[in-house]
Amino acid sequence: MTSPGENRRRFLQTATAAAAGVSLGSSTAAEAGQSASHRPDLTADVLVCGSGCAGTAAALAAARSGANTLLIEKAPFAGGIITCVGLPYFDGIANIRDRRIVVRGIALELLSKSGVCAPDAKSVDKHNPTIPNTFEFKLLLDGLLREQQDRLDVLFNSMVCGVETQGQRIESVQVANKDGLVRIRPQVVIDCTGDGDVAAWSGAPFEQNAEVQPLTLHFRIGQVKNSPLLSQNCRSALQAAQQRGELPHYYGPGVMFLFGAGEVYVHGVRVPANPTSAADLTRAEMQGRADAHAMFRAWKREVPGFEQAYFLEAYPWIGVRESRRLIGQHVLREDDLMQARRFDDAVATGCWYLDLHPNQTTVGSANNFQPEKHQPDPYEIPYRSLLPQKIENLLVAGRCHSATRGAHASTRVTATAMALGEAAGVAAALAVASRRSPQEIGGVKVRETLAARNAGPFTDA
Ligand SMILES: Cc1cc2nc3c(=O)[nH]c(=O)nc-3n(C[C@H](O)[C@H](O)[C@H](O)COP(=O)(O)OP(=O)(O)OC[C@H]3O[C@@H](n4cnc5c(N)ncnc54)[C@H](O)[C@@H]3O)c2cc1C
Repeated sequence: MTSPGENRRRFLQTATAAAAGVSLGSSTAAEAGQSASHRPDLTADVLVCGSGCAGTAAALAAARSGANTLLIEKAPFAGGIITCVGLPYFDGIANIRDRRIVVRGIALELLSKSGVCAPDAKSVDKHNPTIPNTFEFKLLLDGLLREQQDRLDVLFNSMVCGVETQGQRIESVQVANKDGLVRIRPQVVIDCTGDGDVAAWSGAPFEQNAEVQPLTLHFRIGQVKNSPLLSQNCRSALQAAQQRGELPHYYGPGVMFLFGAGEVYVHGVRVPANPTSAADLTRAEMQGRADAHAMFRAWKREVPGFEQAYFLEAYPWIGVRESRRLIGQHVLREDDLMQARRFDDAVATGCWYLDLHPNQTTVGSANNFQPEKHQPDPYEIPYRSLLPQKIENLLVAGRCHSATRGAHASTRVTATAMALGEAAGVAAALAVASRRSPQEIGGVKVRETLAARNAGPFTDA
């Protein structure tokens, strides 16, 4: 087994050799004859793919539990939707009805370290607690990941791009980065890519609807003067822009004053696309930018209060709400949620409403959508919804875990994804320590271990 220290030595060797344009000495027959573009294999007890809401929690949980862990992320930072798409909300951490906290553990740690609540808070002020600054959130995660450096290696700017299986096991995962193509040989893999990339490529059953929820690019506008009619005027300007053919779809107006005085955060872009097609995702990125700027131009031209406004920034990536969903050992269903079904192997509590965005323009309260009609009581999410069929050394956490489309519309939110990631990290570490598969560990043991660290389900607490 390679320790993080050894992996780090190999990273350095690789970088030095690549800089010198030479190939590396090999330590195994499999590595013999490699070129500078194919590096020595790395190993890990636990490999976490994707460092978003679920993946960051999974990696921290696995490393804190004593497993040598390697975290791979295609972005240059951790945080996923929060930092890549600029989403500041910790939805799902508290029951919408009474604001009682139902997700503790790493999600609550992150919220409290962002200055939003006390570490031992039992309730929060808002049903959607909001962190004040997404850049500082990147720094917070950098710090927490670095604290674990004796057990945790992190590779940013690294894209998981392939999986090799033998029988029912993942033997290796391939990653493309500045070192070239790197092969990682893990004992247990946690797929937190949001899109279920590892699960799909390893042959685990999954599904993806022909039509998924729209993609959204978030952007910010500076120096806007608020007024009672601002929202209404913004909406009218978007309607006119659409009639002129400047804006195919939008949610309107999707304008919020957030982060700073006079600063508007816009979540009104709506691009229907298939996020697991590289070509369609590229089209969506371009369409998202075009639509964001069309909205800005319409407001600047027509809405009082935007005279001095300037386009501050769009976040780097368009956000994906929905893509592949695992068909795991338990597929969580809408009626599991709406009837608040209990599970012996519950590892997390969810509580958000079934929040399904349509692929069409909606204004005001979307399509007469009434969240309270789709609002479950706090419900439980079983460990088996993180376990795939067919592949024994894989866990799948975050928005690609095993749920129907309707149930996923609730479980996909940020704090719930963190809770699922933490559970997967704990489970993977338990599996490695006992030389058993995640399935053999069983959810009851995972739940007990989470409870001992003030995490796991808080459905009735
Ligand atoms: C536009 C938008 C608005 C939303 N609004 C809200 C909201 O208001 N409140 C709320 O709570 N939730 C909201 N959500 C939902 C929620 O943010 C996500 O579902 C949540 O982030 C899920 O967490 P995750 O860890 O599964 O995915 P993510 O946070 O997306 O993390 C996935 C990570 O995996 C990385 N990755 C993906 N593929 C690879 C690969 N092949 N190799 C390496 N790395 C990879 C990504 O870069 C990313 O960092 C919104 C989502 C979107 C898109």
